[in-house]
This record gives sequence, structure tokens and C-alpha cells, in this order.
Amino acid sequence: MYPLLSFPLLILISRLLSYSLYAMDQANILIIGGGVVGCAIARELSTRWDDVFLVEALPKPGMATSTRNSGVIHSGLYYPKNSLKARHCLEGNRLTYEFCAAHNVPHRRTGKLLVAANPHEAAELENLQRRGEANGVAGMRIIDAAGIRAREPHVAGVAALEVPSTGILSAEELVKAYARVAAEQGANIVTHAQVTALEPRGENIRAELRIGEGEETQRESIEARCVINAAGLHSDEVAALLGNHSWKIYPVRGEYCEIRGPRAALINALVYPLPHAEMLTLGTHFTKTLWGTTLVGPTARYIASKDDYEHDRYTPAQFHASAKKLLPEIEETDLHLAYSGIRPKLVPPNEHGPADFVIARDPQVPRAIHLVGIDSPGLTSAPSIARHVADFAAEALA
Ligand SMILES: Cc1cc2nc3c(=O)[nH]c(=O)nc-3n(C[C@H](O)[C@H](O)[C@H](O)COP(=O)(O)OP(=O)(O)OC[C@H]3O[C@@H](n4cnc5c(N)ncnc54)[C@H](O)[C@@H]3O)c2cc1C
Repeated sequence: MYPLLSFPLLILISRLLSYSLYAMDQANILIIGGGVVGCAIARELSTRWDDVFLVEALPKPGMATSTRNSGVIHSGLYYPKNSLKARHCLEGNRLTYEFCAAHNVPHRRTGKLLVAANPHEAAELENLQRRGEANGVAGMRIIDAAGIRAREPHVAGVAALEVPSTGILSAEELVKAYARVAAEQGANIVTHAQVTALEPRGENIRAELRIGEGEETQRESIEARCVINAAGLHSDEVAALLGNHSWKIYPVRGEYCEIRGPRAALINALVYPLPHAEMLTLGTHFTKTLWGTTLVGPTARYIASKDDYEHDRYTPAQFHASAKKLLPEIEETDLHLAYSGIRPKLVPPNEHGPADFVIARDPQVPRAIHLVGIDSPGLTSAPSIARHVADFAAEALA
């Protein structure tokens, strides 16, 4: 078997060793999408089943939302009690630290400060602490302005909620490690492979694939006993391939600036404002990265296209206006435009409120499992989501 296969390599090997792409014809499980969620699922399922295939449309795993984020291991404090976000973030936090330690994924348990800029916001900290405690987040405490200065001398605030279980990691290394372990356990990961059609066939589901790019494109198909839709921003479209039109993803872009060089030391770890009431974003925050820069962002704005990362970006001046509230010493010239990422939101523009993750077997095609609206904290939650999906897969394959 050739578990981590890019298309050109697959062709070369098939020519040299007469290994046909039609070896992919049958699978127990087909995972669509090689982001952090799909790769974590491949790793979990390949401990229990043979013939697990993961297909990813892009040239390598993790090139979409999974590496265009803050890289924060969230604690689980924000989300409504008993929601999937609360459950999977809390469990995912524990499992992510364990996985990173076991597989040498760069990470650091930094803790974070949620900073109240004025007495009105300070009253809200207690509500957040109560919500976090109800979700099972341990070790939080409220500190005063002197406590903030001791940890973050350049941050202005009247009080802060200290959250010790939050940390940071290298998202790219995390995705790579989930994919590597899945492949070592026998999962087959094929990149440059886009699912273009799905059709129930007796007990199985048949997937049509477009493999390769440009001149080299080929059509292939594969039949699987169970299909898992982990297609991120495109998961609504993949569900629709099976006739399920229950969901619509609204892309919400999050943009970052970066502080580089010695000025990055204005921040020591993770500093957040209070979250927006409608939970569109956790607020423009400061993240000290593992490579020593400080990220400022992400912003949040609904956009028309699911792959528009750069058009009409916010300017450093616009970032400066919101960043100086918590970090008064920051200058506009400290801020350099950095990358952006796109959240797969289930809530349309002008409607408020948080939406939970959707993890569900298809009512018409129960051998299909859909994961839709996996926005933040999806990076943290991935290993816990993977266990949840494994339970559904076991039911589907019983
Ligand atoms: C700005 C921003 C900041 C964030 N910060 C954090 C954070 O700090 N901590 C945290 O826990 N979470 C964070 N998140 C959320 C987190 O990044 C996502 O929840 C997570 O990456 C979702 O992973 P995924 O695998 O579902 O999606 P993706 O990474 O988008 O992967 C889906 C994959 O499916 C592939 N695909 C789509 N259609 C097909 C098809 N038809 N055939 C084959 N392949 C297909 C795509 O190419 C893609 O690679 C943030 C998100 C954003 C946007």
C-alpha cells in the first residue's frame, strides 16, 4: 500500500508497479476532505477498520481553513452548556495536548487572559467564568489590573479572567501528524482528488472523483460502505450531492496582521477582549506565536466567495483602531498584513447567535455522516469529533 499519495506519485507508482487506480474501487470508509477534522477522523477510524480512504481536493492536507487560523488550543469556556462545541472543545483540549506531546507537534500551554477594558466589561467576566465552569473548564480565576500587569505589562485593562488550559500549537504540524499517523495505521490518503458526485448503490455509496489537475485530470470512482463528509467550507455542497439540502454555509473571512521583530514582545502569550455578543468572533485578539511574532486578529466579515482570501483586505490602520484599545502602545507601523482564513458559518448575515457544530447521519442515506459548520473551535475539537464520528461509523457499518 502507498498510504500518502499525491496524484503524480500515484500515477508513477501505478505505471512502475502496475498498481491500478482501480485498487481504490472498494473501501470500507471514504472520508471526503483532508483538513484537520478529516485527518483526525482518518487517524481514529484506521485504528478500527481496514480500507479507510481519505480524498483531498488540494495538493496536500490542511491547505484550507485548518492552517489559516490562530492555532489556539481553546479551553471550551464560551459555548452554551451541553452544546457539541462545549463538549468537543473540552475533550478536544485534553486530547490535543496528549496527541501533540506523543507525536512531537510543537505546542505550548500558555494560558490566556480575557481582558475587561472597563468596569462594565469586568462584570461580564464573572458570567464567562460561570459559563466556563458549567462546561467543566478548570482553574480559571479573575485577576485585577495589577495581576494583568504582572503577566502582560503592556496590556491595559481593569480586570481579566485567567484561563490556564488555553495554549497554542503549529496547526500545519498538527494536520501533518494526524495524516502521518493515519497513514502508518494503514489509511490511504490521496491528494488532488475531488469528489464530484455521490450516489447510493445498494448497501454502498458510489463516489465519482476528479483526480489530478490540468492536462493530467482523470475520472475515477470508488464505492464505500460508509462516507464521511468532512469537506469544511464545501460540506453543504457535498451533502447536496446526496440530495440533502439541509444546510447552507456562509463564508466569513477572518484577517490577521502580525507584529514582527522586537515589538512582538509587547505581548507575552494570549490576550483576548470580551467576545462579541452575537459570537460571530471571539474579538480581535493577540496571539504570541510559536515562532515569536504576535498575531493580531482575526476580524470577521461575511464575504461572497468561499475562496476569496485577499480581495479588499482591511488595512493596518483599521487593525490599529481596534488593537490599541487593549494595547495602547501599539503603533500602526507595528502592524503588517498577514494571512486570512474563512469560517464556514451556518448563521446568515444579519441573523445573530451562535450555531453549533452539525455532526449527523444522513436521514435518507444513513451510511453517510455529515460534518457541517465546523468553525472555531474545530482545530481543538478535531480528535473528540473523530471519536464521535467513529461511534456513528460503527452504527452505520453494523
Ligand atoms: C480565522 C480563523 C481562526 C480560527 N482559529 C481557531 C483556533 O484558534 N482554534 C480552533 O480550535 N479553531 C479555530 N478555527 C476553526 C478551525 O480552523 C476550523 O474549525 C477547522 O480548521 C475546520 O477543519 P475542517 O477539516 O473541517 O475544514 P478544512 O480545513 O476546510 O478542510 C476541509 C477540506 O475538504 C476539502 N474538500 C472540500 N470539498 C471537497 C471535495 N468535494 N472533495 C475532496 N475534498 C474536498 C478542502 O479542500 C479542505 O482541505 C479558526 C478558523 C478561522 C477561519
